[in-house]
Amino acid sequence: MFRVSPSPGLHIGFTGVGTGNLAFHVSGGTTAQYPGRPGPVSEARTRLEREMGVAPGRTEYLTQVHSARVVEATGNGWGARSGPAEEADALVSPTGQDPLAVMVADCLPVVFASRPPGGVDLTGPTAVAHAGRRGLLDGVLEATVDRLRGSGAGSAPGEIEAWVGPGICGRCYEVPEDMRRDGASRIPAADSTTSWGTPALDLPAGAVAVLERLGVTVHRDDRCTFEDGRLFSHRRAPGEGRFAGVVWRTGEGAA
Ligand SMILES: [Zn+2]
Repeated sequence: MFRVSPSPGLHIGFTGVGTGNLAFHVSGGTTAQYPGRPGPVSEARTRLEREMGVAPGRTEYLTQVHSARVVEATGNGWGARSGPAEEADALVSPTGQDPLAVMVADCLPVVFASRPPGGVDLTGPTAVAHAGRRGLLDGVLEATVDRLRGSGAGSAPGEIEAWVGPGICGRCYEVPEDMRRDGASRIPAADSTTSWGTPALDLPAGAVAVLERLGVTVHRDDRCTFEDGRLFSHRRAPGEGRFAGVVWRTGEGAA
C-alpha cells in the first residue's frame, strides 16, 4: 500500500493488486462472504485492516453507483453488515474517526481530510469519494466538500486537503467525441486526446481543477491504472478487481 501520514495519527493510503481485490461484486467475490463467511474478498479486506492497524471488519465501504450522493459513516464497518453497504459514492466521517474506503479500477479514488476552523492539524472530518466520469461531472466532489464543511471543516482556502489517487490518465481514457465535448463543456480541464490521437477525457486534471476551484489543497498520485499493472484497471482487465483509497486514524482517540 502506498501510504502517507499528513498529520499526527492520520493516514491516507492507496492499495494495489498486492492487497488483492476488495470488492464483493467482481472477481469471484460474493455478498455471501459477509460476516463470518471466509472468502478472498473478506481475506483481502482483513489483510488491509491488519496493515492499517484497524480492527477487522471496522472499515466502512459503500455500494458505489456512479452518483453524486454523499452519506455519513454509520459507525458499523463492513464486518457488521449482513448485506451490501448503502448506495452512494461519497462517505463522510463527521468526527474523522471512522476508517473509510472507496473502491476503484480506473475511476478516481479521492480521499479528504480537514482542519477545524483556525486549526493547524488535520483533526477535522474525513471523507472518501468515487469520482468516475459521471460522478465527477454530476458534482460528487462538490457535494463531498459541502458535506465536510457542514460537518465542521474550515471553509478558508487550504482547510480541506484532498489526495487524488491513481486512475486512468488523460492519454489513455478514450471516449466518443460527443462524450468528450459534453465533459469538456462542463469541466474544461478534462478535455484531452489519447496518445493515439483520439478523443479523451482527463479525469485527474478535471478533479484537480474542481477541487482547486473549491479552495481545496490537492495532492495527486499520478500513476495511471491502465498503464501500471500493479493497479486494477477495468479497461485493461475487466472484472479483475478493485483497489481502494482509504483514510483512518491510529493512536489515542482512534476508533
Ligand atoms: Zn495512462
